[in-house]
Amino acid sequence: MNIALVAHDEKKDDLIQFITAYRPILQKHDLFATGTTGLRIIEETGLPVTRFRSGPLGGDQEIGAAIARDEMDLIIFLRDPLTAQPHEPDVSALLRLSDVYCVPLATNMGTAEVLLKGLEAGFFEWRFIRRERE
Ligand code: PGA
Repeated sequence: MNIALVAHDEKKDDLIQFITAYRPILQKHDLFATGTTGLRIIEETGLPVTRFRSGPLGGDQEIGAAIARDEMDLIIFLRDPLTAQPHEPDVSALLRLSDVYCVPLATNMGTAEVLLKGLEAGFFEWRFIRRERE
């Protein structure tokens, strides 16, 4: 599965901790991330990550485009709900596209945990089945 990982600055430490805890699951999949998030994941966990541009410079839109091309299976986007983001429209567009294409997306660690446990349990196989039918 292709998994996109994004965290706003105040949430990047949380995401690194989360990835470290769920490394056994995440390392079986192809990981993608916005620029700064991806760099931190690579440097701090050693996991391979395909990096898009930094979020404010178009990275969120690149992930949105990948969703529209049916190239993303799961998104973990730890948003900072307490800080205004200059690229809020891009964030909203990414969330909207995940709803358009029914791509499971978590915006906090509680949901992210449930999604990864579901991924491990095989609950995402429907994505392959749907792809084969189209
Ligand atoms: P970043 O982008 O990983 O480059 O910091 C994340 C975002 O703010 O959308």
